[in-house]
Order: sequence, then structure tokens, then C-alpha cells
Amino acid sequence: MAVRTRMKRMLKSSLQSFGMMRGPALALKPEPIQVAGRGRTALVAGGSGFIGSHLCEALLARGFRVLCVDSLISGRLRNVSGPAFAQARGQRRFRFVKHDIQEPLRLRADFVFNLASPASPPHYQAHSLLTLRTGSEGTWNLLNLAERSGARFFHASTSEVYGDPRVHPQREDYWGHVNPIGPRACYDESKRYAEALIMEFHRKRGLDTRMIRIFNTYGPRLDPDDGRVVSNYIKQALRGEPLTVYGSGRQTRSFQYVSDLVEAILRVMFTPGLEACVFNVGNPGEFTMLEAARLVQRLTGSRSALVHQPLPQDDPVRRRPDISRIQAALGWAPQVPFEKGLEETIAWFRKEEMGA
Ligand code: UDP
Repeated sequence: MAVRTRMKRMLKSSLQSFGMMRGPALALKPEPIQVAGRGRTALVAGGSGFIGSHLCEALLARGFRVLCVDSLISGRLRNVSGPAFAQARGQRRFRFVKHDIQEPLRLRADFVFNLASPASPPHYQAHSLLTLRTGSEGTWNLLNLAERSGARFFHASTSEVYGDPRVHPQREDYWGHVNPIGPRACYDESKRYAEALIMEFHRKRGLDTRMIRIFNTYGPRLDPDDGRVVSNYIKQALRGEPLTVYGSGRQTRSFQYVSDLVEAILRVMFTPGLEACVFNVGNPGEFTMLEAARLVQRLTGSRSALVHQPLPQDDPVRRRPDISRIQAALGWAPQVPFEKGLEETIAWFRKEEMGA
């Protein structure tokens, strides 16, 4: 082998081990999963939220009848009012049900997806009690509905179950490092409780349950006002305002594009034999918040400065998923690099949110 080729390989593998390669961990290029939804009903709780609305759209495209249940605390009706939704409504395949899952539901479905919860730190902290009840009683109510209907149950858990992790990258068998009385606990602990509850519904009542832990996700339909880092930076850059970097900006996150996540959700829900599974789903490319800010500056062509603001309490220092479990089980790997996904997201913000 030529020396240059060998050097290149060595450099690549050392960059990978230091987390410097920012693309997907493996160059897997799987075909999207084929699912026949005709004649089957999927209930999506949180269906008009950022991720929920993309999931509803993917289910409609595969022929499902979709019941979108949302309290509109953080979901937005505009997320489910585009042409795909209007057409499905006309065919009586899409129904929006305004309902808070804290209260029992009388609906039936073949597949129940639980994505209901405020999910950005400022949002869940502003609605802390509601967040706790949504994760606990809300999950109970959806599990009961699934049991009554004989449905399969999917739950969107979170990388927050790992808290401010002492193990890096995070694998599913890491139990986490969560402050149970801190400002993030309302979200973290309600999600941890939900995981425990779901496992007991599986063990004691035989329900077919599937869970994923979602790492930071971004894309079109991110609420510009929910205070997440990607939406904040893009909004600030497009308005010519300073980009707010919390703390030193050296804390890291791994950002996954929403289409990669939706593909993983479909695979986890519709692959036979995955009862009681839990998978990390995220893009292992790891970025500091300073790097993310500079990337947004460059891609928007913004001259906005960076301004440092205090780091929120209990803000995790490092976060990166180990996705080897889902790669091995389902051949899934993220396909969209951060830069490419950011371009799409910025284009959407320009058109839909900023009127530019
Ligand atoms: N962050 C930031 N500027 C912002 C918003 C957030 O530097 O305007 C930081 C925040 O402190 C955290 C990271 O970006 O370290 C990701 O924050 P986000 O709220 O998006 O999600 P989290 O992963 O903390 O739930």
C-alpha cells in the first residue's frame, strides 16, 4: 500500500477516535424502511410539535391514518397545516385532536407514538409541573390506551436521562448522572420515570414497547422562540443580532437532522421482534457551542458578533451518543452532516419564520 494512502488511513482513524470527524460514524447508506400503513391507525401524541409533525407526515406518506393529539402547549398548528396534511385531511386520513394527555383519552389505534412533552430547557422549566405530569400521568394514559387497543407503543425518551454524563460517549447501559432536584429535573426525571413505567407495562402486562433516547435534533419547524441553541443562533444571525453563547461555549453537543431521526423512529417501531428495546438515536459528530456559532455565522453570511452569557445551572458539559447498538440491530446511521442540515434549516427559517 502506498505510504500516502496508509498515512491518510492512520490520520482518519486517529481523527475518528478523537471525535474530530464530524460526519456520520459509519458510511452506511441504508434504504429507507418500507412500511405499508394502509388501513392502520397511528396515534401521535405531540404530533404538532417539531419532531411529531415530521413523524405524522412520514406516516401519512406511508398510507397510515394519523390521529395527531396535541395540547398545543408547545406544538404549533401551522406545523400540521401544509399541503400533505390538507390532502390527507380531505381523504379523512388525518385528524387533529386537541387534548392534553394528562387526561385519559378515549381513542383507539394500532400504533401509539408518545412524543408529547415540552422539550427545550427554557420551555420545560417554564412549564415544570406540567412537564412532570406529562411524562408520568400522560405516559400512563397513553400506555392504558395502547393496552386497551392492543397497540404497539413507542416512546420518545431523551439523552437527558444521562444528565451531565461521567461516561463519554454515552451508551445505553450507562445509568446517568442526573441532579434530581435541579432545574432540569422536571424533564430528566419525568423521562426516567416514563422509561421505568414503560418497562413495567412490558414486564407485567406484556405490552410491546419500544424506546429511543433522542440526542439534540434540529431542522425545519424548530420553534424560533423555544430557546434552543440552533434556533437561537439562526434567528439571531438572520436578524443581525449578537449570537448568545452560554458560558465559555466549550461545552459540546451532537446535532442530528430531523429526517435521520424520523427514519430511525420508523425502523424501531416497525421492525418485528424489538419488544422492550431502547436505542440511542443521534449523530455522533460532536461540536462545541462556539464551533456551532461560527458555523451559523458562516452559513448565514452574518456579521453578528458573539456575546457570552451565563451558563445555565446543570448544563451538561459533553454529550455524544454511542450508536453502535442501533447500527448493529437495524443498520441505521445518520446521513445528514451538520453543515448540510444547517443549510436546509437556515433556508427554512429565512422563508417561513423571518419573511426574508
Ligand atoms: N446554548 C447557548 N446559547 C443559546 C442557547 C443554548 O450557548 O442561545 C447552549 C446551552 O447552554 C447548551 C447547548 O447550547 O450548552 C445546547 O442547549 P439547548 O438548549 O439547545 O439543548 P440542551 O442540549 O441543553 O437540552
